[in-house]
Amino acid sequence: MGESRLLVHCDLDAFFAAVEVLHRGLDPARPLIIGSDPQQGRGRGIVSTCNYAARTFGIRSAMPISEAWRRCPGPPHGHGTYVRGSHRLYGRASRKVMDVLRGVGGAFEQASIDEAYLDITEAVHGDWDAGLALCEHLQSEVRASTGLSASFGLAPTRILAKMSSEERKPGGVFRLMPGDAAGFLHGRPMRDLPGVGPATATALSEWGVETIDEAYALGTLALGRMAGDRFAKWLSSVVEGTSSDEVSPLQSRRSIGKERTFEVDVQDHEVVMERLFELVHRVMESARQMGVVGRLAEVKIRYTGFDTHTHRRSIPVGMDDVDVFIGIAGRLFALSVEHERPVRLIGFRLGDLEDPRTRQTTLMRYEGESASFEPMHRGEDG
Ligand SMILES: [Mg+2]
Repeated sequence: MGESRLLVHCDLDAFFAAVEVLHRGLDPARPLIIGSDPQQGRGRGIVSTCNYAARTFGIRSAMPISEAWRRCPGPPHGHGTYVRGSHRLYGRASRKVMDVLRGVGGAFEQASIDEAYLDITEAVHGDWDAGLALCEHLQSEVRASTGLSASFGLAPTRILAKMSSEERKPGGVFRLMPGDAAGFLHGRPMRDLPGVGPATATALSEWGVETIDEAYALGTLALGRMAGDRFAKWLSSVVEGTSSDEVSPLQSRRSIGKERTFEVDVQDHEVVMERLFELVHRVMESARQMGVVGRLAEVKIRYTGFDTHTHRRSIPVGMDDVDVFIGIAGRLFALSVEHERPVRLIGFRLGDLEDPRTRQTTLMRYEGESASFEPMHRGEDG
């Protein structure tokens, strides 16, 4: 029992909607729907997300916006508030929350704009009561710094922490002690397990297996025949509390990229290059904040008319040195940019991310001139 890690999963409650409510000074008891323009019920887009008040009308993410309007119309027919949403606002709120969570120290992993994992084992010296108290403390810190409500799950593995944060949503904290996984999972439908898709759940259901414990009780041999050996092994590790407890930014992120669209297409490539260097700085700043290094540099150039090309180069050892990547990005750009063509968008991406603490390459050294350019990769993604 002393061997278990203490993992926290933090998930903000109805995040986008909560940010909009705060920003616009709305009444949280009134239904708020974020998505495309409902056009008085004739809109063809979908609901991006909504607050809890809207959920009581049966409105859900990805529902057609016209259906949402039918259930809860906006003015003049009803009380629904419909907004398009501002990602800049959400990004700012998210950064504040993540700063609070990162302040704990220890391994930290932002899993999405409104979700993060933390390994707090060292921070609380392995004490599960102190762990629970820390979650409650973080919850009030998040509220104090942003006004937002977050739910916390504390458990010995990633998946159990994630399920735990759902358990008392919204605004709750739930602790699942080591050894309690089997009891916690008993009687739950397969679909409750994050990572189990509808296809697997349906396939198992055809065998008469509806719940997690029923699947586990079959044993890995029989379950493996129904759903594959990998799945069977994974499921038993989940129930036995031995599935992954690793918190690392690399679990969620494969690359870090930033791009910039010019208001007017730019003919002067010196100006474009300057913007590119700013992007490299910002990307490397994010990499350092995440504690990762990268082995792949990619420059994306979109010309007038959405004609988009990406140019990439790998280096033998992951690095986070901004000067190295400025040099690579500058050369990639200079060698690849088509002269005389105005540029609409410039982007930089750091890929093949590695955790420098677990990196195995120790003998190889990066030498600027020895790394070779990969053949030009030309893509059309516009
Ligand atoms: Mg959330």
